[in-house]
Parts: sequence; C-alpha cells; structure tokens
Amino acid sequence: MAWTYRQPVEVHFGRGVVEYLAEAIKRIGGHRGLLVTSPSFVRRGIVGDLAVRYGSAVVGIYSAVSPNPDVTECDACAAMLRENGCDFVVALGGGSVIDCAKAAAAVCRDTLPAAAYLDGAQLPASVLPIIAIPTTAGTGSEVTSVAVLSDHARGLKAPLSCDGFYPKVAIVDPALTDSMSPRMTACTGFDVLCHAIEAYWSRNHQPVCDALAIQAARLVLDNLLKAFDEPADTVARDRMAEASVTAGLAFALPKTNCAHVCSYPLTSRYGIPHGEACAMTIDSFIRLNGRKGSDRAATLAHALGFDSPDALADAVHSLKTATGMRLDLKEYRLGAAEVESLARACLHPNMRNNPVYVTLDDLLQLFSDLV
Ligand code: NAD
Repeated sequence: MAWTYRQPVEVHFGRGVVEYLAEAIKRIGGHRGLLVTSPSFVRRGIVGDLAVRYGSAVVGIYSAVSPNPDVTECDACAAMLRENGCDFVVALGGGSVIDCAKAAAAVCRDTLPAAAYLDGAQLPASVLPIIAIPTTAGTGSEVTSVAVLSDHARGLKAPLSCDGFYPKVAIVDPALTDSMSPRMTACTGFDVLCHAIEAYWSRNHQPVCDALAIQAARLVLDNLLKAFDEPADTVARDRMAEASVTAGLAFALPKTNCAHVCSYPLTSRYGIPHGEACAMTIDSFIRLNGRKGSDRAATLAHALGFDSPDALADAVHSLKTATGMRLDLKEYRLGAAEVESLARACLHPNMRNNPVYVTLDDLLQLFSDLV
C-alpha cells in the first residue's frame, strides 16, 4: 500500500482567533486585499468589526455572494479584484463565499468567464492567495482545493479543483458560527458527516485521512443534536467547528463521492440546501455499500461503535429525523421520467470514487424509494 499525505493550508483554530487576520495578512505579504462575504455579514456588523483589525490592507468589499454562488457572481468578484489591482483575497462566510472567492481568485488571472471553467477550460496556473474564515461548520472549504460553482441559467452545479484553491491560511473561529439558526446548523452539520463518511470509504482513502474522518464523524454524532437543540451551547459549537475542519482535512485528498454527487442535481433542480441534499441519500448509500459488501462501510460502522452498516444508517436516519431534515422527495411529486433523469445526472465521474460500483439501476431504486 502506497500513499502520500499533503496539506498546504496553515490552520488557526479557536474562539477569538479571528483576531489573527491582521497577522495573517502580514504573513502572506498582502498589500491590497478584497474582502469577499455575503450581505448578512455586512448587515450584522461583522465586516465593520473586522475592518478595525485589517487596517488599510483591504481595499474593497465584494458582498453580493449568494448561496450556491453563480458564475456571474464569480465574474463580478473577479472584475473587482482586477479593477482594484488586488494581490490577495479574504473570504469571510460559508462555503458559498469561500468557493466564490477561490474561483474569482483564479478567474481574475485570465480573460475567460467563470462559466468556461465549468465547461472544462484549464484553470489559470497562478491564483491569488486566499485567507479563508469559515462562518458555518460545514464545507471544510477552508482546507480544500475545491470550489463549487453553479450556472443557474444552465441548471448546472459542479466542483472545480486546482492546487491554487488551497487557501494560504484558514482562520477557524467557532464564535462566528454561533449565529447559525438550528436549521442551518443541521444542514451544514450533515455536510460535515457526509465528508467524513465519504472520505473514509473513498477509493482514494489513506490512513491519515481515515483517522481524521473517524474523529470528525464521532464529533458530529456526539455534538450535532446538542448544537441544534441548544444554539448557545458553545462547547457543542466548538466541537462542530472542529469536526468541520477535521472532515475537510479528511476529504481534501480522498475526495467526496456518492451523497455529494447526488446533492448537486438535488440542489440545482429542487433548491435543497447543500448539506440537506447530501443528507438526503447518505443513509441509503450506507445501506447500499454495506449490502454490496464494502469492507470500508463495515469498518467505518464498527469504528463508530455500530454492529453493521445498517445500524449506522439507522442512527444517521434518526439524527436526520431529530434535526428536521427532509427525509424524502415526495413533496416534489416526481414522475418516472424525472426520477430517471435525476438518476442519470448522478452517474457523474465522482461516483466512481464510491467503494462499490453504483449502477443506474441502483440509483433508480434509491430515488424510487424516496419519491
Ligand atoms: P452557505 O455558504 O451557502 O450559506 C448559507 C446561508 O447561511 C447564506 O445565506 C449565508 O449568508 C448564511 N450564513 C453563513 N454563515 C452564517 C452564520 N454564521 N450565521 C448566520 N448565517 C450564516 O452554506 P455552506 O453550507 O457553508 O456552503 C454551501 C456551499 O459550499 C455549496 O455551494 C456547496 O456545494 C459548497 N461546498 C464546497 C466544498 C468545498 O470543498 N469547496 C465542500 C462542500 C460544499
């Protein structure tokens, strides 16, 4: 067995560690930065508070990032980076903000629009340095080389990946997640759980990431319900933030697979939030992989204290129920043709990273059970 572990991101974790931003800007040698965020962070005064700390090094704010960022938002952000002659980017927000900032840091280096990269154009070799400050305990984007963009006009959502997308510095301050509603806590928390599970059984799994994945999954199973039930429980918040960055480190190399692949069409077609879209199929995949004899599904279940993949799937299903996740797709009244189209959309190359081969019939059965 041969494997390589590499993680280029400098990670700072802890309540109050957002104070490190000014130092981080100095460390990366930034002079003219753009702060990328979403409107709610400007509205709630968080951007104003940070402005005191970053001094004159940040020359502009792009605050129009929406959930599942569109290629047009990325283009607008890239244009602002060019117009201001920026030499670094600070992303303050959830995965949508961090991904938009990452993609814009690349798009601003060339003349192509962001949509061209979703169509397969080669990303520029040099990307502006990024400082990522996550505000959700979910995507782990602060430690990955992935940026997920949507092209809503074409009904597309897909990941882009390049080494330049690894932030230079990740500042993970759990206090920034305290303002998440219970629903957002649950949605993003299930994203973390799916990262951990999919990283562990990925065909590209390796021992360092396995250890991170199991630790992250345990943290979610022990703390998500607490953070959901009691949003002011800062210990549970801290643990979820720790789970998020740990799961990010776990999947950064092995990459995601089944539930994440299925989440993209579920979000772009039906508007289901990312984490909830991942949660929609993860218990079905735990059962499917177990049934098809994946030893990774079995060892994961055992490592998490369950007798079998089915017992783990039952626990995940109970957690979905307790946190109000949608349990099926019945509300969309999908006909046979839509189910087939959905199943076909999930035959994305990343599905090959699932530990057992997933056929169109498997996907048809899985979605038929949900409609
Ligand atoms: P998000 O960034 O889409 O944010 C959802 C909403 O929550 C937004 O309205 C945002 O403004 C708000 N919000 C964010 N933080 C908040 C806080 N602390 N308090 C109150 N409101 C807050 O949600 P997300 O789940 O973090 O990101 C999802 C996106 O990330 C999807 O596009 C998904 O595909 C992508 N993703 C990327 C990676 C990666 O490695 N790059 C991994 C998984 C998912």
